[in-house]
Amino acid sequence: SAASATSQSSARRLTVLSGPSGVGKSTVVARLRESHPEVWLSVSVTTRRPRPGETDGVQYFFTDDEGFDRLVASGELLEWAEFAGNRYGTPRRPVEERLAAGVPTLLEIDLQGARQVRESMPEALLVFLAPPSWDELVRRLTGRGTEPPDVIERRLEAARVELAAEKEFDLTLVNHSVQGVCDELLALLADH
Ligand code: 5GP
Repeated sequence: SAASATSQSSARRLTVLSGPSGVGKSTVVARLRESHPEVWLSVSVTTRRPRPGETDGVQYFFTDDEGFDRLVASGELLEWAEFAGNRYGTPRRPVEERLAAGVPTLLEIDLQGARQVRESMPEALLVFLAPPSWDELVRRLTGRGTEPPDVIERRLEAARVELAAEKEFDLTLVNHSVQGVCDELLALLADH
């Protein structure tokens, strides 16, 4: 029908940026927010506490466990996942409204969330952000070197598993530079 054709072509405008933890997704999104306010970025709900400099409604909507439970129960989240002891989810309604209006729409979510979007919105474009190299990811994950060896080993094992998810994605962008990834994303958003 005409209605389903319309909803399909607008659903194709949803772009999902995901990738292993530590690869720099939030840095890319922060840069886009600054330089391209016309791109609509979904604001997630989270149970984690705000970090210094974060404002409710800008980086996230901050809520508690009960509030999050209510959103899950009422079906108001397009996807949600637990990550490092906190829950994160994408409010469904704002995304659907932007898509219906044909506005380029971007989600920055973890791999579990990207898999859920793949199921519920098969027309979405799933973009995998990859580190320039394995060594570079190891450097980022081991960071200041203050973590004990067994913690580092667990993070690296998780990273190995996460990198294998690349094959589930429509395309890969390599994070050589924040500006480079932003430019590539903008080009994708423009013609997706
Ligand atoms: P952070 O606490 O560092 O801001 O985010 C931790 C992780 O949660 C990141 O990998 C980020 O991509 C992911 N994340 C943020 N918002 C959402 C969301 O709405 N859904 C899912 N599935 N993951 C999210």
